[in-house]
Amino acid sequence: MRKWETLTDLAELIIARSRTGKPVTLTPDTAFLVGLKLMTADAKPSHHDIIAEICDSKCTQPCVPCTFKANAIVRLYGQGRNATSNAQ
Ligand SMILES: [Zn+2]
Repeated sequence: MRKWETLTDLAELIIARSRTGKPVTLTPDTAFLVGLKLMTADAKPSHHDIIAEICDSKCTQPCVPCTFKANAIVRLYGQGRNATSNAQ
């Protein structure tokens, strides 16, 4: 019996059980989905890759507007730590 509707629901369930020290048991289908998501988690473009892609001026050094846009994009995808360390 599935106890979650969205990936966020699933993540919250896993985190809640983890925080209480309880094991997490996944059905094979859910384990497959979680595995796929974990494999792609590190496949996100880096802050630098995003700047290079969105900069219309093709600046040799990251320009301020593109850096701020890249920060926002990176934050939306949950990589906030990298974004703030690269922003100046
Ligand atoms: Zn730029």
